[in-house]
Amino acid sequence: MADLPNLTSPRELMKLLGQYGLQPHKRLGQNFLIDANIARKIVNSLELETGDLVFEVGPGAGALTAELAKSGAQLVAIEIDRGLYKLLCELFEKWPNVKLLNEDVIKLNWNHIIEQYTDGHQPVKLVSNLPYVISGPFIYAILKCYFPFQKAIIMLQQEVARRLIAAPGDSDYSALSVLCQYYNDGEILFNVSNNVFWPRPQVSSAVLKLEPRSRLLGLEEELLLWNLVQESFQQRRKTLLNNLNRIYPELKEKLPGILKEASVKEQARPEDLSSGQFAMLARITYNYLK
Ligand code: SAM
Repeated sequence: MADLPNLTSPRELMKLLGQYGLQPHKRLGQNFLIDANIARKIVNSLELETGDLVFEVGPGAGALTAELAKSGAQLVAIEIDRGLYKLLCELFEKWPNVKLLNEDVIKLNWNHIIEQYTDGHQPVKLVSNLPYVISGPFIYAILKCYFPFQKAIIMLQQEVARRLIAAPGDSDYSALSVLCQYYNDGEILFNVSNNVFWPRPQVSSAVLKLEPRSRLLGLEEELLLWNLVQESFQQRRKTLLNNLNRIYPELKEKLPGILKEASVKEQARPEDLSSGQFAMLARITYNYLK
């Protein structure tokens, strides 16, 4: 297989981008990784085994892609930038285990795309040095399709990583935390200084591992969970009883009983409930609405 340039060397990276007439676009969160150790650490965290199918979001100029390609995994890398996509197609032309797509990962139907590339048995993993500009919408996008991965290793702003694993009562506990924790166990593996990117971003990063949990609810109950969680956190300082009254006025009389059945205190606020308690509340509310 063809040799690859050293894609984490700033000199080689700038030379390569220059050859294609490209420069980093802030609008697309293009902060390229220029540290080979961090690239290796991220790829090692995926614990790849022969035959794994890996999706890479935002391969950029290929810093992680090169490590992934060498691992022998089947890789599908999805890049929105047409110029970078062309550069990657040429770089990885002789690597049959690397497929490149020029798509927007927010608009993708993930279940559909996974179905296209998997044989249905192999573990499907996700890896990304996620552009800061899409971190929230991207996490929502993969949760919306029920997190169809066996493992995800994602580098993102420390602040967002902390929000995803925040516990009830933490100041950064949010609707995103509840929904992420309903689908996944999350763990921050290590922090990453902003010095290892070019251009250097304002914020520091963290590498987060997500692994799926078994889901407690049926599909319709889950739809209700999303609505309940997102609506409740719109007014996070109000009690859940007040929130539920606003969201499901038709259940007004029954709400104290519903909260009791879910073992939730009437004075509790959205930020006090774990994802498991929200799931329980969603199930009971669903049963009353049916
Ligand atoms: N993986 C490379 C690295 O580690 O050096 C580049 C990471 S850079 C932070 C993020 C990459 O995601 C950029 O190449 C950017 O063009 C791409 N990107 C931004 N928005 C995207 C989207 N909606 N869909 C797919 N790729 C996107």
